[in-house]
Amino acid sequence: MPPPESWLNVTPKGLYCVPGDFFIDPNSAVERAVITHGHADHARPGHSKVLATAETIEINDLRMGKRAARSRQALQYGEMVAIGGVNLRLAPAGHILGSAQIVLEHKGSRVVVSGDYKRRTDPTCTGFEVVACDVFITEATFALPVFQHPPDKIEIDKLLASVQRNPDRAHVVGVYALGKAQRVMALLRQTGYEKPFYVHRALQPICELYVRFGSTLGELRVVTPENKKSLAGEIILAPPGATRDRWTRGMPNPLIAFASGWMRIRQRARQRGVELPLILSDHADWSELTATIEEVDAGVIWITHGREDALAHYAESQGIRARSLSMLGYEEENE
Ligand SMILES: [Zn+2]
Ligand SMILES: [Zn+2]
Repeated sequence: MPPPESWLNVTPKGLYCVPGDFFIDPNSAVERAVITHGHADHARPGHSKVLATAETIEINDLRMGKRAARSRQALQYGEMVAIGGVNLRLAPAGHILGSAQIVLEHKGSRVVVSGDYKRRTDPTCTGFEVVACDVFITEATFALPVFQHPPDKIEIDKLLASVQRNPDRAHVVGVYALGKAQRVMALLRQTGYEKPFYVHRALQPICELYVRFGSTLGELRVVTPENKKSLAGEIILAPPGATRDRWTRGMPNPLIAFASGWMRIRQRARQRGVELPLILSDHADWSELTATIEEVDAGVIWITHGREDALAHYAESQGIRARSLSMLGYEEENE
């Protein structure tokens, strides 16, 4: 059995599968790319051919238009294709709509590339599937024991309690436009929150795409100069940049919240001027990362990006060989 290192290379552009002649989430344009999900640091423009889930392909088209890819192939979760002697399928990663792990089988060994992932239930996407493998190639965004994300319900209740306590203030929640925005809305709807959400214009197209793929977001209203003044007691969602600038001016005594795994670190909340930090992450926390490594039962892990040393150290303490890839181009902030 040839070791996966012999057919899966780490190159400056990203992971490259030699017999299949394709890259996974390359950081610049290539001939053939397999894409785990639609976040900008994983899905880059300009590839000739892209293989991904139908959801990821639509997200890419929305974000990049004609620059997305010259030709694209959609795969359903579980559907198998053979590319140059490599069997490839996509398994749900539970990170955002359409996110996938890449399962590769070649000459008797199986490699799983996690992409970004999380383990808890997310009403806007299919849950993570554990796929047993020989080599597990994992992210490590929150791979420090200090990162233990609280249950979503606690953070959502925090937001609702603040709205109740401060009916005279506009609650502006900073959220990344793809994934986090829709998840926060869907979680709020699950609690029975029925009022319209006010959204920054930039969020609208991706929300519409999520609804088309079956998410329940309820009524959304775009924030306008006209309705700004009447947003006391309302929940407003906006990209993090917009919560820090003039955009909130004119809203009644805005209260700035931010939904991110980084809100575990108080200093980051303070730096950003966040009054109400909400620890809501689309990445696995320390417990989920270590539990997943155990469950996939791989003898070897490769770590793509994030807190690589801590996770490598943990793996080795469990008798698992670990390799840090320190891959370029993935952004830790993007969450
Ligand atoms: Zn991501
Ligand atoms: Zn990432």
